[in-house]
Formats: sequence, structure tokens, C-alpha cells
Amino acid sequence: MNADLHCHSTVSDGQFAPAEVAARAHANGVTLWSLTDHDQLGGQDEARQAAEALGMGYLPGVEISVTWASRTVHIVGMNVDPANEALRNGLASTRNGRAARGVAIGEALAAVGIPNAYEGALRFTDDPDMISRTHFARFLVEAGYAQSTSDVFARYLGEGKPGYVGHRWAKLADAMKWIKDAGGEPIVAHPGRYDYTPVQFAALFDEFIQLGGRAIEVVTGSHTPDQYREYADVARRYGFEASRGSDFHGAGEGRVDLGLLPPLPDDLTPVWERWL
Ligand code: AMP
Ligand code: MN
Ligand code: MN
Ligand code: MN
Repeated sequence: MNADLHCHSTVSDGQFAPAEVAARAHANGVTLWSLTDHDQLGGQDEARQAAEALGMGYLPGVEISVTWASRTVHIVGMNVDPANEALRNGLASTRNGRAARGVAIGEALAAVGIPNAYEGALRFTDDPDMISRTHFARFLVEAGYAQSTSDVFARYLGEGKPGYVGHRWAKLADAMKWIKDAGGEPIVAHPGRYDYTPVQFAALFDEFIQLGGRAIEVVTGSHTPDQYREYADVARRYGFEASRGSDFHGAGEGRVDLGLLPPLPDDLTPVWERWL
């Protein structure tokens, strides 16, 4: 089993169309795959059809942007029904505001001497309502303001940097309800990426459990190998099931390509076991 249950297409902030991502996953040996675009289900039909044509298992997915304790947390909804109205409406309300925030990011960057970034970022997406910091990052790299997308986040777009514009995403309870209403399983995405204190992490996991959550990502392209071990221990401590996903966005972006992560530690229960 080579499960990769977290990645992105051009429907959100990935570089490749859903069918291209499917082909790349399959070529890299993935046997169970999920496309998890940010706050969007628009790629699910194409992803499923492409996966089935390749003989690759498919689970419909989405990655929901949540604000918890004034910071952004991502919750993956796995094996959701992409036609579910409650989920679709919730995602539409979550997307609402991306366009205005994009304009504000452009203004913030102009104030530090980077003009026309909004227009530049728009060239990297077909859907202005899905504009994300990743699209700005690609523009800033192309225009020579930074060496790499991670360099852009460190210098311009990360929290507290000059191009950062705060945003209120969905509430944790709402995102989890939408996922559950759609028959899916909520998974805390890349917990190692959140800048919380230990007390806040404990409160986040407690609330997640109270809301019916029972799985976290352990092996993800958004964790370092040290964090694989750290969050494997968290999974053991809380009794969480574990997920694995590259968080692939495009060639040359991110730490690891589709399907090429190490396996989950043997003693953890993979979240996908229930769907096999
Ligand atoms: P947004 O939803 O517009 O706030 O954009 C968030 C996206 O930016 C994430 O989904 C990642 O794709 C990307 N991102 C966030 N932090 C980093 C980072 N440090 N390095 C590279 N990409 C990042
Ligand atoms: Mn992303
Ligand atoms: Mn994420
Ligand atoms: Mn992601």
C-alpha cells in the first residue's frame, strides 16, 4: 500500500491539472490517492476518473482553511461526498473573501516596493476567487524578489512579514461538521506547521477529539523527518489514527514528490484502513 492522501491541483494552488496529478501519483507508485484542494471540490470528478482509468484507488478529499486561536489550521476532509450540499455551501463561504484579501496582499507588497503583485499573482490561477499566497509566491520568485517559494514565505508572506494579511477562515466546529455531514473523516493536516504553544496544541487536540476527530497527519511533505517522529508520538499519546500525504503542489516546490514519503511507523493505525 502506497497511500498519498494530500495534494493539490490547479483547482487550488497546485501547478498541474487533476488528471496530471493523478498520472504523476501513479507513475510514482501510489496505489491509494486523494486530491485535497484547498476549500474546493471542483477537481474531484476529474481526479476520480483519472485514478480509476489508471487502476489507482481513490478517496475524494478537501483541505479546509480554519482559524483557531487566531491562527490558521488546515483540516483535511477525507472520503467526503463531493456532492454534499452542507459541505459545498460551507466551502463556498470559506472561499468568500479570498479575492478581497488578494487585493490587500497586493497593496501590502506595493508598500514595501513590490508593485503589481496582485496582477502578477492572478496570472498563476484561472480562478481569481481561489487566489492564494502560493500564487503570490510564484509571481515573486518569477519576478526575482526571492529565490524560492519558501524564501518568499520567510521574507514576505509568512505571518508577521510585510505582505501578510490576516484572514478569518472557517471555525473548527463548522469545518468538522461539514466534513462529517458529507460522510467524511476529519484529519488535522501537518500539525507540525502550526506555531502554537504546548498548551494550545493540547487544547486544539482536545477540542478536535470532542468534535469527533480521531486522525492526524504524521508523515507529510510539510513535516521534517524529526516531526514524523514527534507526531507519531502525539498519535500514540492521543490514540489518533495516522495519515500520510506529500502535500505536493508542483515540481520543484515542497520537500517531497507524490508517493515518495517514508511509510507510517508500523505500530500506528492508518486512517485509510477502514476504507480498504
Ligand atoms: P493561503 O491559503 O492563501 O493562506 O495560502 C496558504 C498556502 O501557502 C499553503 O497551502 C501552502 O501551499 C503555502 N505555504 C504556506 N506556508 C508556506 C511555506 N512556509 N513555504 C511554502 N509554502 C507555504
Ligand atoms: Mn497550498
Ligand atoms: Mn495545508
Ligand atoms: Mn495542502
